Amino acid sequence: MELAQDLVQRIRGVIGAEAGFVPLHVPEFHGRERELLIDCIDTGWVSSVGSYVDAFEAEVARLSGCTHGVVVANGTAALQIAMLVAGVAPGDEVLMPALTFVATANATSHLGAVPHFVDSAYDTMGVCPTRLRAHLEQVAEVREGATWNRQTGRRIAAIVPMHVFGCPVDMDGLDAVVADWPMVVVEDAAESLGSTYHGRPCGSLGRIAAISFNGNKIVTTGGGGAIVTNDEALAKRAKHLTTTAKQPHPWAFIHDEVGYNYRMPNLNAALGVAQLEQLGDRLAQKQRLFDAYAAAFDGLSGAQLFTAPEGSVSNNWLVTLILDPDMAAQRDTLLKVLNDAGIMTRPIWTLMHRLPMYQDAPRADLTQAADLEARVLNIPSSAHLGAAL
Ligand SMILES: *Cc1c(COP(=O)(O)O)cnc(C)c1O
Repeated sequence: MELAQDLVQRIRGVIGAEAGFVPLHVPEFHGRERELLIDCIDTGWVSSVGSYVDAFEAEVARLSGCTHGVVVANGTAALQIAMLVAGVAPGDEVLMPALTFVATANATSHLGAVPHFVDSAYDTMGVCPTRLRAHLEQVAEVREGATWNRQTGRRIAAIVPMHVFGCPVDMDGLDAVVADWPMVVVEDAAESLGSTYHGRPCGSLGRIAAISFNGNKIVTTGGGGAIVTNDEALAKRAKHLTTTAKQPHPWAFIHDEVGYNYRMPNLNAALGVAQLEQLGDRLAQKQRLFDAYAAAFDGLSGAQLFTAPEGSVSNNWLVTLILDPDMAAQRDTLLKVLNDAGIMTRPIWTLMHRLPMYQDAPRADLTQAADLEARVLNIPSSAHLGAAL
C-alpha cells in the first residue's frame, strides 16, 4: 500500500533504522532518579509521607502555574478527588469529550456521578465549544444559577476539558460557554504537563486540574497523579480527603469523614522530583522530534501531522497523524504495516459511548469525534528520539 510504505520510509528517516520495535513512548531516567531513590531507602522514608512528597507537590504546582499541589496514587484518583472537592456530587452529570481515555469517565462514575459525552473539535481534538453550546441549548436549562439537563432531570455540575496528547483545549471558547451555562471547569491535564494556552500552563486553566505520572506520560513516578489548583480551600480539602481524613494530632486516630488512602509514596515522589528537573530538556527534545517529523512529512499526501493551533504550545506528548477522509477506510491496514515494520503505531481511543458500561450515558451528537476516532494515529514519540537529532 502506497501511503503505508511512504510513511514507513519517512518515519524511519526521523527515528533511524534502529533494529527491533520502536515503542510509542518510553519512560526515561537521565537525572538524579537513582540517587534520590537510594536516599529514600537509606533514610527509611519510603512510604506515604516524606520530604520528596512535599517537594514534588510544590514543584508540580509551580510548573502548572498553580499555588497548590496535592500528589496522589494515580491520575484517575486525582480526577475523582478534583471533581469531588470542586462540588460534583452523586447523581450529578459531568460533561466530557467522548474522545478521551476511559479514566475521565471512570473517575466520574467512582463519584456516583454520570458522564455526559460531548463532541470534539478538529483544531484541538478536544471539546468543541461551538458544538457544546448547540448541545446545551437543545438539552439544558439554567435554573437558580445552575445548569440542568431537561431530559434527565439531573444537574450538570462540571465540564472536564481534556487536552488531547498535550494540545490545549480552546479554553476561551469554553469559558464563553460556561459564562452562559454555569458549571465548574475541572481540567483533565493528565497528558499536558508543560503545555501552555496563550502563555498560561495547562493545569491552571480551570478551577482545579488533574495530572498523571503513569509510566507512559511525559514524566513518570511509576504510577502517580497530582491535583493542582489556585484555590487554597480546595487544595486543603483534597489533601485531607486523600490522606484518610485524619485530623492532625500527635497520637490520636481521629478521622472526621470517610477519607481515601490515595497517597503517593515518598519513593514515587522522589522519582518525580528527579523527573521534573528534566522537564525543560524533555520538552525541548520532544519539540525537536516534532519539528523533524514536520520536515519529513512535507509533501506527504494521504495524511497530515496534527499541529496545535496558534497561541497554544503543546508538550508534544504523542505525535499525531490525521488521515485524509478518503484514507480512513485504510486505517487498520496502515496500523498493521507500520507495526509490522517495527514502528509502534496506535489508533486513538474508542469513543466512550461504545464501551459497554457507558452505552446508555447521555450524549450529544458525536459526528466530529467519530470522524477523528476513525482517522487519528500516534507514532513513536519518546523524548530520546529527539535527543538524537
Ligand atoms: C493517563 C490518563 C489519565 C489517568 O491517569 P492514570 O495515572 O493512568 O490513572 C486520565 N486521563 C487521561 C486523558 C489520561 O491520558
